[in-house]
Amino acid sequence: KCHNELVRLKGNIRVFGRVRPITKEDGEGPEAANAVTFDADDDAVLHLLHKGKQVSFELDKVFPPQASQEEVFQEVQALVTSCIDGYNVCIFAYGQTGAGKTYTMEGTAANPGINQRALQLLFSEVRGKAADWDYTITVSAAEIYNEALRDLLGKEPQEKLEIKLCPDGSGQLYVPGLTEFRVQSVEDINKVFDFGHIKRVTECTNLNEHSSRSHALLIVTVRGLDRSTGLRTTGKLNLVDLAGSERVGRSGAEGSRLREAQHINKSLSALGDVIYALRSRQGHVPFRNSKLTYLLQDSLSGDSKTLMMVQVSPAEKNTSETLCSLKFAERVR
Ligand code: ADP
Ligand code: MG
Repeated sequence: KCHNELVRLKGNIRVFGRVRPITKEDGEGPEAANAVTFDADDDAVLHLLHKGKQVSFELDKVFPPQASQEEVFQEVQALVTSCIDGYNVCIFAYGQTGAGKTYTMEGTAANPGINQRALQLLFSEVRGKAADWDYTITVSAAEIYNEALRDLLGKEPQEKLEIKLCPDGSGQLYVPGLTEFRVQSVEDINKVFDFGHIKRVTECTNLNEHSSRSHALLIVTVRGLDRSTGLRTTGKLNLVDLAGSERVGRSGAEGSRLREAQHINKSLSALGDVIYALRSRQGHVPFRNSKLTYLLQDSLSGDSKTLMMVQVSPAEKNTSETLCSLKFAERVR
């Protein structure tokens, strides 16, 4: 009860910022200078020096470059475990290419990100639950590229999937044909992740470019059954590494590159519009303006919980994009 009260007071949409460290790729000249600073006494505020002016932003929380994957996950844990109680949750990583989205979601072998940690936590929480409850955890992986939804764990290459309304009249959406694997251990998840990766790598010529232009989704479903009462719960955790938010050069982009850019723009602004509408409690929420928001409709509406992790680069040369990303963050907050 207390928890629900808190959710109602604070709303169920959180917006965090994470600033990656300066890297070698940023170069060594003035373009690699640090343009982002923090407040010692307020962990929700950051300041950006853009074209000689300081602009300040207030989010729900801000992680500086030295924040570890553990520290980030600590702030995300409660959201993750709430899907055991039947809540639907979305965690998005938003930002320009190179700002740390994949680092936050997937991480590295030595420093795993939210995806790995979330599944690990779900396994251990479910194991510790009351003996009457049985839980099954399944995962699906998909990507949305040029508004087409593709299964990353299926056997068929390049198969396009459709989003359909459940025939049972519940109003729920589902994706016929989307592969769902039951996972019971960390080894199982690693196998699933590797499989998804291999499929993505073998089906495109440049994975880095491709992944910055498509949304990658890891969908974790936790189903519970109380054997003594027959009560069932279903919670879904959607972990989304979004396409790069950078604005593609106004001149130059043509053909397929331009089409990709238009699709990305459209779906990222559709996502912003949906979260803004939910946050400001508007009656009409435009879920159907993109595949992404349509697919996640059930996990964004009602008593669902959403976290937008806005990733930015601290480098001087990126301040225009950083400014755009932080403005997006403030709009949805
Ligand atoms: P994106 O997915 O947004 O394109 P990446 O996650 O690939 O960006 O990050 C770009 C580079 O910066 C990678 O080499 C990544 O390992 C590194 N990086 C990003 N965030 C961090 C961080 N918080 N700490 C250390 N390295 C990071
Ligand atoms: Mg990436």
